[in-house]
Amino acid sequence: MTAQYSYSFNTGDGKNKALLGGKGANLCEMTQMGFNVPPGFVITTQTCLSYLEQKRLPDGLMDEVRAQISEIERVTGKHFGGANDPLLVSVRSGSAISMPGMMDTILNLGLNKQTLAGLIEETSDPRFAYDAYRRFIQLFGKVALGIEDEKFDTHFNNVKRAAGIKADVALSADQLQEISELFLMVVHEETGRPFPEDVYQQLEIAICAVFNSWMGKRAIDYRKEFHITPDIANGTAVNIVTMVFGNMGDDCATGVGFTRNPGTGENEMYGEYLVNAQGEDVVAGIRTPKPVHEMAKEIPEQYRQLVELRNKLEAHYHEVQDYEYTIERGVLYCLQTRNGKMNAAAMVKTSIDMVAEGLISKEQALLRINPELLEQLLHPQLAPDHTNKPIATGLPASPGAACGHCVFDADTAVRLAKTGQDLILLREETKPEDIHGFFAAQGVLTSRGGKTSHAAVVARGMGKACVAGAEDIKVDVRARLAIVGDIHIKEGDLITIDGSNGNIYLGRIPTIAPRFSEELKILLGWADEVARLRVHANVDTPETARLAVSYGAKGIGLCRTERMFNAADRLPLVVDMILAHNTEEREAALAKLFPIQRDDFEQLFEAMSPHPVTVRLLDPPMHEFLPNEHQLTDELDALKHYLTIVKGQRVTLDTLTNAGDLPAPFNRLNEDVILEAIAKKQMMLDKVLELYEVNPMLGHRGVRLGMSYPEIYKMQIRSILEAAARCIKQRIPVEPEIMVPQVITAQELKKVKGYVDEIQNEVESQYKIKLNFKFGTMIETVRACTRADRLAATASFFSFGTNDLTQATFSFSREDAENKFLPLYEESGLLEDNPFETLDIEGLGKLMKMAVDLGRQQRPELKIGICGEHGGHPRSIRFVHNLGLNYVSCSAPRIPVARLAAAHAKLLENKPI
Ligand code: ADP
Ligand code: MG
Ligand code: MG
Repeated sequence: MTAQYSYSFNTGDGKNKALLGGKGANLCEMTQMGFNVPPGFVITTQTCLSYLEQKRLPDGLMDEVRAQISEIERVTGKHFGGANDPLLVSVRSGSAISMPGMMDTILNLGLNKQTLAGLIEETSDPRFAYDAYRRFIQLFGKVALGIEDEKFDTHFNNVKRAAGIKADVALSADQLQEISELFLMVVHEETGRPFPEDVYQQLEIAICAVFNSWMGKRAIDYRKEFHITPDIANGTAVNIVTMVFGNMGDDCATGVGFTRNPGTGENEMYGEYLVNAQGEDVVAGIRTPKPVHEMAKEIPEQYRQLVELRNKLEAHYHEVQDYEYTIERGVLYCLQTRNGKMNAAAMVKTSIDMVAEGLISKEQALLRINPELLEQLLHPQLAPDHTNKPIATGLPASPGAACGHCVFDADTAVRLAKTGQDLILLREETKPEDIHGFFAAQGVLTSRGGKTSHAAVVARGMGKACVAGAEDIKVDVRARLAIVGDIHIKEGDLITIDGSNGNIYLGRIPTIAPRFSEELKILLGWADEVARLRVHANVDTPETARLAVSYGAKGIGLCRTERMFNAADRLPLVVDMILAHNTEEREAALAKLFPIQRDDFEQLFEAMSPHPVTVRLLDPPMHEFLPNEHQLTDELDALKHYLTIVKGQRVTLDTLTNAGDLPAPFNRLNEDVILEAIAKKQMMLDKVLELYEVNPMLGHRGVRLGMSYPEIYKMQIRSILEAAARCIKQRIPVEPEIMVPQVITAQELKKVKGYVDEIQNEVESQYKIKLNFKFGTMIETVRACTRADRLAATASFFSFGTNDLTQATFSFSREDAENKFLPLYEESGLLEDNPFETLDIEGLGKLMKMAVDLGRQQRPELKIGICGEHGGHPRSIRFVHNLGLNYVSCSAPRIPVARLAAAHAKLLENKPI
């Protein structure tokens, strides 16, 4: 047989999501497992790619479609396009990975004048038939023919208003017929042609529309945002599914469910349903649905079927499922299932629970969680002691607290976000076309829709706070106003939402860092058992060190001493040190700094004890501690101006009176003070000019400072070693590591090692103890990589500083690159990613490998880590695991991510990255 474009649900391979899309593959799998799925078939993603390339459907596809439809007709006894018991289908998109709400579904396809009459006869329910018809015309009009919803909605609302009706369900058959006719007219007016009557033509147009939606703006934006590359999902499949009706009466319903609570992970029935409604009513938030527990009372037999479905789904997929179903005249049909997207807390809890239930192994429990997700757990929560009263409460749709200025539409949100404002997107309900507003906002608030509405699903996926269905809020987009009782919220007003309980507050409420749950501790404990890489933290203060330890850090991989220099009480001393005219003056200033640094280190070592603490010697160019040239020139001008004024005042007073002893502001001394200030400023300006460098980042910094001003490095080394000695005296186990930045040659290292040896001897005899510490180097220049064997002769550890090393590898200055040309490079595909965010494995990775190989040739036990920002990124972590590094070091909030990623790295070490 030639290329097969489609597979019936009875024959498609349920494991082949790349070919059949996630939705299609699961429909096949469920059908073949004996679940009650309406008959249907899948057109492959391959066919989509061919259509997009050739700009037309492949020859023979529609013949295959006709054959598939005939088969459905045979099984169901219905007739596609037939007047007698007509077959209606839905046309649904679905790519390899789920992109919620990204591509639209057409329901009730196959209706025309003739089949409509047949449907009325078949069901004896004209109201139902016209309801289906008007839905079809609008959906088809919108999705396949590109007509705006508004064009239809206006007519719909007019009819409702004229009839004095609020709820759609109250519309009569006649009113729905009137609406259908108005809708047909809209289509004719908007497209210049009558609505297509031929059902195969309808089908063909719909298939093309689904294929085209793959290249629609919404879909492309979504793929870009979530880095969905063609190897992850390429093209969409089309699912053609026999319609089942949830809107044929009160023994009908439609709903969506999760096999567990996706907000908390609790093992319980979870979901929402609507009696007498079609699927999209729940998802679009047009009517607010009921929680599934009410179904147990309302339609107990169907609830029983639903519980059974849920249990079967989990038993089969060994994963939490997000499923959609419809009940037609008492019979439950499953319309979709996929792995449930949950927030991080729920992912963690379900992992722990499912291991306990024997549903998955510990390895699976670790692997099913994307490490990046864990950062969510460190999202802010409202301060528990706040006393603000909520102005309204909606459904807790995506946890975490967010505060921001209200904004009423997505475009405005994007515009305001550029000015750096925190925003809450406030809408009646959201639609897929609002997606860019989600990215721009800190949180989302809707006045309609349930926990499975579009807003809720998308916000959860992004880990953004969301409160949905806050029905007390009336949103008036035109007036840029939301009204709750007598409270008016204008665009720009500050509000706070709590996605964990649904509360909405006026103004800003302080937030606190969240706590580590017991479940997270267990999970990360499993991760640590598996992982080979240790996770250290980049921290500079005892407080953040303690925080990092509570997150599970096993050491400090980078302490930047200059952060200590910048504190208000030290900066003047640092400035004195820099302004010193000679070594003696400089040593005098350093002597004052010394006890401060030593005490800092002592506290830091204590906070991290017994884990290693890597301290980097002074790195940035010295002028970073001085005011900048323009500021100094301005200040100098002001002082000179002031001097003239004071002189002028004195002359004035001398002239007018003969006052001998005037009060302080007007006497001579005052001029002396100003002159002194001018001299000081001038000196500082001279120093700034002297230190001026064209490219400071490639200039006099790092170990180069240690070469020119050995006394600075010596002071730091002494601080570190004496702090260690003091800890040892108090029986606090410490493991300091002295790290030299920006090294290019072994000679530099040997020189610094010389200072270290000398000071070590002094400290050991002074304190009468033996010091135990390591001496090593950062690897952040290209030459350090190529000469790593020589460096390893002196250094007992390496730490990759991948930020500088990336700059060196690309010859980019990060600031200039990211502000000027990198966005263009990324957008036009000249570079796949921003190398400062995603470690450049192909290029920079080779240098790293060279450094590791050379270093370990020289010193097999060489300890190697990475302390750049990349050290907290799962992909980089996998790469450095494979390179054989010993540890990664990252900022405190990335530690949970890094610990899980380190376990993934071990479990996936034989898989391509
Ligand atoms: P999405 O990918 O946005 O979830 P779906 O293809 O799942 O879109 O369809 C949207 C809604 O339409 C679903 O909630 C489902 O209930 C309803 N639906 C789709 N196909 C059918 C069908 N054959 N019969 C009844 N309802 C359907
Ligand atoms: Mg769906
Ligand atoms: Mg650096």
